Amino acid sequence: MSAYPSLSLYINGQFLSGEGRKTQDVFNPANQQVIGQLPHASKADLDLALQSAQKAFETWRKSSPLDRSNILRKVAALTRERAEDIARNITLDQGKPLGEALAEVRSCAEHAEWHAEEARRIYGRVIPARQPNVRQLVIKEPVGVCAAFTPWNFPFNQAIRKMVAAIGAGCTLILKGPEDSPSAVVALAQLFQDAGLPPGVLNIVWGVPSEVSTYLIESPIVRKISFTGSVAVGKHLSSLAGLHMKRVTMELGGHSPVLVFDDADIEPAAEMLARTKLRNAGQVCVSPTRFYVQEKAYDKFLAKFLDVIKSVKVGDGLEKGTQMGPLAFDRRVTAMQSFVDDANRRGAKVLTGGERIGSVGSFFAPTVVTEIGDDSMLMTEEPFGPIAPVVRFKDTDEGIRRANSLPFGLASFAFTGSLKTANRVANELEAGMVNINHFGIALSETPFGGIKDSGIGSEGGMETFDGYLTTKFVTEV
Ligand code: NAD
Repeated sequence: MSAYPSLSLYINGQFLSGEGRKTQDVFNPANQQVIGQLPHASKADLDLALQSAQKAFETWRKSSPLDRSNILRKVAALTRERAEDIARNITLDQGKPLGEALAEVRSCAEHAEWHAEEARRIYGRVIPARQPNVRQLVIKEPVGVCAAFTPWNFPFNQAIRKMVAAIGAGCTLILKGPEDSPSAVVALAQLFQDAGLPPGVLNIVWGVPSEVSTYLIESPIVRKISFTGSVAVGKHLSSLAGLHMKRVTMELGGHSPVLVFDDADIEPAAEMLARTKLRNAGQVCVSPTRFYVQEKAYDKFLAKFLDVIKSVKVGDGLEKGTQMGPLAFDRRVTAMQSFVDDANRRGAKVLTGGERIGSVGSFFAPTVVTEIGDDSMLMTEEPFGPIAPVVRFKDTDEGIRRANSLPFGLASFAFTGSLKTANRVANELEAGMVNINHFGIALSETPFGGIKDSGIGSEGGMETFDGYLTTKFVTEV
């Protein structure tokens, strides 16, 4: 295994080091040791990235879908070949267990393949005309230069999804990845270069997020913005984009409700939900986060849920047997503590966890809280960590009403043995994605996206290129 890689910018096909640039430390959250130095882009670097992306767009937009598809297929093959090294570096700078990091990287090969396939099916249409000699055509064209901003919880997945969508559509891209967990994005730049992507089509920059995003969004060269991250930042970037009439794709936070009905298969549901909850230490935008359990099922559910949560082994993600790693950085531990403090102030019961583990690394204990009101911080703000509030509900009307009570609408979950209940919650839950009796979202062939405050647009599925294409109407006689 190689050492943690040296980190760089990637502009116009060149990897640019920190020499002569401002740099920032990159930490391993399992022990808080500095493992790397990340160069920040200067204004001149950002200008070069903008010009390169603009110049590359002139030829990339005319490339054939087959050529673009072949490059994405090579990216998929190289992703599989390099998965182990990339995954190890994700565990080092993000913290998740190595097995989860490997699964993240390998599943992304499928995203590249899906986009390679769909890129060859970006069709227009012919509209029958009112006169026999008139031809009316609808043509899809790439939007232009895109700016993307991706977060640290799935650093490989969230970046590649935007890259393959933009590049597959014929756009060029400047992407700012997560400064806290940057190795995956640098590895992606290398993958695309080795797959034969021409210089300037993909550019990677780093820096102070608000400075870089403002600069890129305000540039007349950039035509589209794509962001994955928090609702607050998403609203801010969308308003900036709106000011300059630029289209957006926003994949934002959620606070996914879970409805467990009396007639569900309770123990398997509790086990599956506990494991899904602690995946990536709960730092998942579609993580189940508000657990509403119907009264008769409550005790049985809670007992099994607690058992599984307590059994999870927390440790360094590189250690064998670790099931949950540290949080990605210490700010998240502070955030978890504030959720627990608010719960305690309100007289809720913390049944397990509720505190930092040890003094080295950003570890927080898997936590279950009960007897907590719907107006508490934990029930209204996305915890984005390993804390699960579990409360009771009486009937379907009440469950759906409480599930829909927040401004978010990303993922939702329901467990029931009744087809009637399943259909009703599928129809009435206000969410971009509904999981019934299993966890089955975020596949390459299915659309991923939220409604309400959780975002705009979808990634994946046949919708994946929608945000990267414009519609042109041509009429000729
Ligand atoms: P944050 O709001 O400070 O940042 C979230 C992400 O946005 C980070 O990747 C950050 O680098 C980036 N960012 C922040 N300000 C930006 C700006 N002005 N321009 C461009 N990018 C900017 O929060 P955080 O402490 O890093 O993460 C915690 C919160 O973020 C969570 O509560 C969660 O809701 C949200 N989050 C969501 C996802 C997701 O997958 N939807 C991923 C990561 C974080």
